[in-house]
Amino acid sequence: MGLLVPDETAMIWRGPMVQSALTQMLNAVVWGELDVIVIDLPPGTGDIQISLAQQVNLAGAVIVSTPQDIALLDVVKALTMFDKAGVKVLGFIQNMAVWVCPDCGRKDHIFGEGGAAREAEKRNISMLGEIPLSMNIREASDEGKPIVVAEPKSPQAAEYRRIARQLVSLADLKAQLPNNLNT
Ligand SMILES: [Zn+2]
Repeated sequence: MGLLVPDETAMIWRGPMVQSALTQMLNAVVWGELDVIVIDLPPGTGDIQISLAQQVNLAGAVIVSTPQDIALLDVVKALTMFDKAGVKVLGFIQNMAVWVCPDCGRKDHIFGEGGAAREAEKRNISMLGEIPLSMNIREASDEGKPIVVAEPKSPQAAEYRRIARQLVSLADLKAQLPNNLNT
């Protein structure tokens, strides 16, 4: 919706309005032939997550979390919800997993280490990858360019491609991989 309203307009909507916008977006938009739709959701187990699980034949859910315990609490709630709704959880992605100093290459686990990985192992869920906290991802994203487009040869872009490849196979997607995913 952010693309349809002026920049400074806040979308102050109650749950039913959000739900109806979602339904309209999924059903009334001429999407054309798609390989994949990825729906990025805020954390939590609210109206949108529940409506999606009920109304859409989802290939699966991907849980993205930072490593802190507090974020992992939300992860556990989300897992329980998707489980109850019969949505397959395809895997975990640990975001902001590590900070690599651009000067000396030292790695710091600012938000703690391996929290999502431990949770994934405990629950027998695939760990799809770890996205570092990195200046080039932040800068490219702010310019509206995914890192795989802005700096396709960077290690960060390689990690995104590695995650995408796993998702395609885990979700049993019939789509052929685009050529640029094969590297
Ligand atoms: Zn340093």
